[in-house]
Amino acid sequence: MAELDGKVALVTGGASGIGKAAARLLAERGARVTICGLDRADTEEAAADIGQGVRGQVADVSDETQVEALLAEIVEGDGGLDILVTAAGIQRYGSAVDTTGADWDEVLRVNLKGTFLPVKYALPHLRTCRGSVVIVSSVQAFVTQTSVAAYTASKGALNAFARSVAIDEAQYGVRANTVCPGSVDTPMLRMAARRFSDGSGAGEQGLVDAWGRTHPLGRVARAEEVAEAIAFLAGDRAGFITGVSLPVDGGLLAAVAVALPE
Ligand code: NAP
Repeated sequence: MAELDGKVALVTGGASGIGKAAARLLAERGARVTICGLDRADTEEAAADIGQGVRGQVADVSDETQVEALLAEIVEGDGGLDILVTAAGIQRYGSAVDTTGADWDEVLRVNLKGTFLPVKYALPHLRTCRGSVVIVSSVQAFVTQTSVAAYTASKGALNAFARSVAIDEAQYGVRANTVCPGSVDTPMLRMAARRFSDGSGAGEQGLVDAWGRTHPLGRVARAEEVAEAIAFLAGDRAGFITGVSLPVDGGLLAAVAVALPE
């Protein structure tokens, strides 16, 4: 019997990158998985690509009506919900001075409200089966770089939100944790590499490699490596783990930029 046999899971942002890898792994381990994404064609294509009975549903995670309907449909179709993974997210660049009010609102709406809403509508069902929530946050919840003011604010808030859910829901046996990746080779990272390699001469792959070298393990992560941490926290083997923020960062958070001379 597979580890997650009989479990029902929803993965937001599951049409791409980390969410897609997580959906694939949960399905491989026996869960009945729905992914949700913004674009119908992309979401259905991703579900078909993963196979294993994974279904694709279109929903904007920041729209309360759509999220409520999505959760109702899953619960009606599958008889409940055991696992929620929130991986939908966006990145916008700018310091506090450069970030427009519209960009700030968009990042907080998708990354933070777009996590709060699925959690809110999943919890009544998770409570009935001692289910679990895994929120995809970032090392940017702890440390930061230049020009990601809104994004880093959203990720710091997600870690705080996850702790709040963990404490409120512990009485029902529901667990809530975050994974906090460093750089991961996904469409989001590739988009950033294309944007910032323009004119630099380094090229997209050169920049991804350079970002990789800033991690002590010397490379960026594969989405599948983050998915392993997500699937572990989602399942019963992590039954006594709640309220934690797990770095999946190749040692990034363990390091300071100080070295003895060679
Ligand atoms: P990705 O490949 O861009 O995947 C993000 C997914 O979220 C996309 O499928 C996107 O759909 C979807 N999405 C965006 N807005 C949405 C909305 N309003 N409603 C529903 N779905 C929405 O990026 P990723 O790298 O896998 O990122 C996944 C999560 O990991 C994000 O929270 C990100 O912040 C976090 N993370 C990523 C890295 C990294 O280096 N890649 C590092 C740390 C944390 P569309 O493509 O249709 O917009």
